[in-house]
Amino acid sequence: MKDKIVILGEYQQDKLASITLECISAAKQLQREADIILLIMGDDIKKDESEWHQYDVDQIVIVEHPLLSRFLNETYAKALLSVWDQLKPTILLCGHTDIGRSLSPYLSEKWDLPLYSNIESFDFHDGKLSFNRPVYSGKLIEKIEVNNDSAFLVTIKPKKWSASQRKEKSNPSIYNLKVTIDQPITALIGLEQKKADVIGLVDAKIIVGAGRGIQNEEGFALINKLAEILGGTVGVSRGAVELGICDASIQLGQTGKTVAPDVYIACGISGAIQHLVGVTSAKTIIAINKDPNAPIFEVADYGIVGDLFDIIPALIKEWDKTGT
Ligand code: FAD
Repeated sequence: MKDKIVILGEYQQDKLASITLECISAAKQLQREADIILLIMGDDIKKDESEWHQYDVDQIVIVEHPLLSRFLNETYAKALLSVWDQLKPTILLCGHTDIGRSLSPYLSEKWDLPLYSNIESFDFHDGKLSFNRPVYSGKLIEKIEVNNDSAFLVTIKPKKWSASQRKEKSNPSIYNLKVTIDQPITALIGLEQKKADVIGLVDAKIIVGAGRGIQNEEGFALINKLAEILGGTVGVSRGAVELGICDASIQLGQTGKTVAPDVYIACGISGAIQHLVGVTSAKTIIAINKDPNAPIFEVADYGIVGDLFDIIPALIKEWDKTGT
């Protein structure tokens, strides 16, 4: 019987998140012979058939239930337990995102199956599969040999695989699956939309990073202004979060988001390894720091040594003048 890889799709604002397209690419590389099944859970899912038929997978399984309208670990885990029984996959693949990080340990324990988390690449040697993942804040890469005899779960690090391209003739079969979910013990009593653009952050082409060096609201306003003028978005270090003026949901790094923009401008950020692990996939890194010995300059493609309160207004002024 063919292997089955089930990808846990993340579906936001009526479209698949980039991480899900990255999971499809990873699944294709992982086992070309396997059936690749994209699982979408939610409520009242918009089914634009012409779009869905372009995803490069063998099947799309849709699970709709009113209790799945928003992600809640408890309800999604219950639905997945039922899906697992019905689909019997060999591999459950998802992003190492807030959702993947939250669900996968629970499911691994429930199913008593191995979980390989935060995987950034894999190799095959003599038919044996091994996974590579960063450890000690990215200072070392751990290689783990996979036991092919058992089913397993794997979460992949965002931005390590390119997003799968749509194919006009892919035509996956689309099924609906029914699940029963008990009323959860946890109740979602409301949602507050944060000002920070968390979804836009992960896929942004230009990110301006704010560190502790921004010092205050005035510094943060400068960062926001620079991001706005460049058509980018703002990410922060933990140092900036600790100042109490930035939202922790846009923190970049080991315990924050991993990003891979075209340009990352680190302002008043020292370059601690826990921060760098989330940003070094940027194509170009520009650092602004008043300390010429700050470690951020070791990874930066371009560095400006000086006070960000002088440099950023000068950059904004220059941009306003030339628009380039
Ligand atoms: P600092 O290290 O204090 O650096 C501030 C920098 O600003 C300095 O280099 C200084 O020279 C410069 N500066 C000051 N004033 C100015 C000015 N006016 N103009 C220009 N430059 C100026 N950190 C993260 O960011 N993300 C994570 O996900 C993360 N996870 C962690 C997980 C663990 C388990 C641990 C232990 C730590 C983690 N950290 C994380 C914290 C990390 O180790 C650093 O403490 C943090 O990144 C420092 O933030 P910072 O660079 O903004 O601040």
